[in-house]
Amino acid sequence: MSFVRPNIQAMGGYVPGEQPKEGEAVKLNTNENPYRASEKAYDAIRAVADKGLSRYPNAAGQAFREAAASVYGVEPDWIMCGNGSDDVLTILTRTFVGEGQLLRLPYPSYILYKSLAEIQGARSEEVRFLDDWTLPSYFTQSPAETSEAQYRVSPLEDVKKDDLKLVYLPNPNSPSGTRLSQGEILKIADSLPCPIVIDEAYADFAGENCVGLVKKNPRIIISRTMSKSYALAGLRFGFMIARPEMIAETFKVKDSYNCDALSIAAATAAIQDQEWLAATTKKIVDTRERLQNRMRELGFVVPTSYANFTWNRWPNDEVSHEELYLFLKKNGYLVRYMNYKGYGDGLRISVGTDEDTDRCLALVEAFLNGSR
Ligand SMILES: *Cc1c(COP(=O)(O)O)cnc(C)c1O
Repeated sequence: MSFVRPNIQAMGGYVPGEQPKEGEAVKLNTNENPYRASEKAYDAIRAVADKGLSRYPNAAGQAFREAAASVYGVEPDWIMCGNGSDDVLTILTRTFVGEGQLLRLPYPSYILYKSLAEIQGARSEEVRFLDDWTLPSYFTQSPAETSEAQYRVSPLEDVKKDDLKLVYLPNPNSPSGTRLSQGEILKIADSLPCPIVIDEAYADFAGENCVGLVKKNPRIIISRTMSKSYALAGLRFGFMIARPEMIAETFKVKDSYNCDALSIAAATAAIQDQEWLAATTKKIVDTRERLQNRMRELGFVVPTSYANFTWNRWPNDEVSHEELYLFLKKNGYLVRYMNYKGYGDGLRISVGTDEDTDRCLALVEAFLNGSR
């Protein structure tokens, strides 16, 4: 298609996790919540539907901003709503990164960031995590100032000192489930010449978060989603927390009505039900600990997870991650097989209900004992 911009033609495009037909498989592949969202969210959707949808929603999602502000101890003008956090990430990339400029992300992590750079006609630089899932000091340096090329996944040419415009850091990270401490993140932000987005899609499972750091460093932006911990992946709602000056700029970039009346009402009701969040998160964290311990007992290397999934790798090539993935799939359990160029492959398993997690573990054990 010669009409299409060259950078779009050259893109592979982001490929979301498999979504099997209803009832076809137990989904442990995209880190959704196995439990039903707060009933208050469903009630809110019904109330809006009864009232009718003939009017535009509030363009800023003001009701949600006020509810989230009170949960996080900030003012409503520190919050911006998005149609899923992927929308928030798109808005941020469009706000900060122009054609030919540079976006940095750790590797292996969330692949979407790279696609967002490609859409902008920008470049992205993937910096490898160290073996203990911390980051080299290179992560905060200007690309032209250092020769530490061993940390780069694919070296870039002609990078100028001030090309770096935005950094993405998922914390906890996916696929590893590991996290950096608040102290480490503040140090990274303080050393960077540009804004840094801490993607906290999984922070509710981590026991701590970086929201407080937004007040300590104006370059820190927090991205959140209702898809994982609030069990509302089908709703599409995410938000960011940042300084009001930053939020005001992103408002110019977002679609005027990027969140609909149903999702604003449901997300508002959900975030006001912190009791539901605490109880559900505790169940998932308990199951995660069992999943993690059992996978380690079975012989897998599993970094300590602070999310609602574990990252599982066999220590040598005697067990094929891909064959195990196919065996689980054949038996009705869908997990995520990931293969990262230059890093290797492994299985990311989302925490399910206790029953589903146990059945999945029993299948893994059967596979290791020779079942095919
Ligand atoms: C799931 C996920 C998101 C996307 O969340 P949505 O709000 O559903 O778009 C963002 N970042 C990371 C790291 C994720 O794993």
